[in-house]
Amino acid sequence: MNDLPQTPIALDDFIEPAVPAPHRTRQAKVVWGSRVVTVGGGAPVRVQAMTNTDTVDAIGTAIQVKELSVAGSEMVRITVNTPEAAAAVPYIRDQLDRMGIDVPLIGDFHYNGHRLLSDHPACAKALSKYRINPGNVGKGDKHDKQFAQMVEVAAKYDKAVRIGVNWGSLDQELLTGMMDANAKLAEPFEPQQIMYRAILTSAIQSARRAEAIGLRGDQIILSCKMSGVQDLISVYRALAKRCDYALHLGLTEAGMGTKGTVASTAALGVLLQEGIGDTIRVSLTPQPGEARTQEVVVALEILQSLGLRSFNPSVTACPGCGRTTSTTFQELAKQIDDFLRAQMPVWKLRYPGVEKMKVAVMGCIVNGPGESKHADIGISLPGTGEAPAAPVFINGEKALTLRGDNIAAEFHALVERYIDKRFGATTAEHPTAHA
Ligand code: SF4
Repeated sequence: MNDLPQTPIALDDFIEPAVPAPHRTRQAKVVWGSRVVTVGGGAPVRVQAMTNTDTVDAIGTAIQVKELSVAGSEMVRITVNTPEAAAAVPYIRDQLDRMGIDVPLIGDFHYNGHRLLSDHPACAKALSKYRINPGNVGKGDKHDKQFAQMVEVAAKYDKAVRIGVNWGSLDQELLTGMMDANAKLAEPFEPQQIMYRAILTSAIQSARRAEAIGLRGDQIILSCKMSGVQDLISVYRALAKRCDYALHLGLTEAGMGTKGTVASTAALGVLLQEGIGDTIRVSLTPQPGEARTQEVVVALEILQSLGLRSFNPSVTACPGCGRTTSTTFQELAKQIDDFLRAQMPVWKLRYPGVEKMKVAVMGCIVNGPGESKHADIGISLPGTGEAPAAPVFINGEKALTLRGDNIAAEFHALVERYIDKRFGATTAEHPTAHA
């Protein structure tokens, strides 16, 4: 017998819309000149990236920082691993300023950061934020001293600090101590539990020490990076419950290509939906020949897909199937997507709000008109056997029908005209400055 009600959804049933939870952290400020990138405390989730150039190559590094910034990275981290690299940092900063790239620079320090920051004050000043890995600041009694030395420089120059724990370089003395204590329990916990606790302890304890040394809580950003998706989710949920520092979120060593993209998206998507994560980095290994900016592209797409931010007009395209055997709609969708992305550096200044626009490029009559009506401007191309006509919908209404061999170019022109008419009236501020 079927017990299901005749009308499973009553007209007055309320379907809870999925909305990302609010972020409840303190707000850190990462500053360069008049550029202030706020992190946490209700600010938009920030995108950051890291260079893979040799920092000693100041010009090469400045060029890559510029590329990452233009692609949408709001802060860029560079390796500072040697005295030569530290000496290059002010030149990189200067070069960026000359190019008009005011993106804040973050210095990534391991092992010798205390010396580099103390010996190179120009480097310490040119950086807007320092990344300190508490697992890599020295062993034994040097650990606390060297950690304190870095924090004191940050306090002196009023810089933000990320205390960045990584399970691949976790403080081994801390972990061993916790493992030994666990082994003595009548019923020891699984090693995974102790690993999680050690990672969280390292991060939170280090942050409290930094505050005791002289940093304000709103100068501190925390991260606890793991390479397993479920591990990362477990640790960040626990971290968010136990502190209100702004959180840097990323799946470490995510890998290459599709694997790295999907794993990062899965992990970050779950956490961001729960309101966890104030700035993200997607740690993709570039495939041979792939641009470093791909990690920024993926980070932007994650935030835009979740509805957390808008960076580029979105193109909805159907996957295609046996109803459309030509590749026309795939080519048109790609052309439109490439065109919109290429124009955005100029358009975001000229056409405020254009980043929220939705364009649909569909393959046949089944979903084409419906999906096109939901978009701001959409085209439903003819499927196999359909009349060679492509209706165009603007603001939900059928506006005209394109025919012939020039459909792609004509639709392109229609999109441009639509943007100019709808978004062309005012001028925008820099989208991230002072936000
Ligand atoms: S819109 Fe048409 S071509 Fe595209 S996936 Fe649906 S049925 Fe297939």
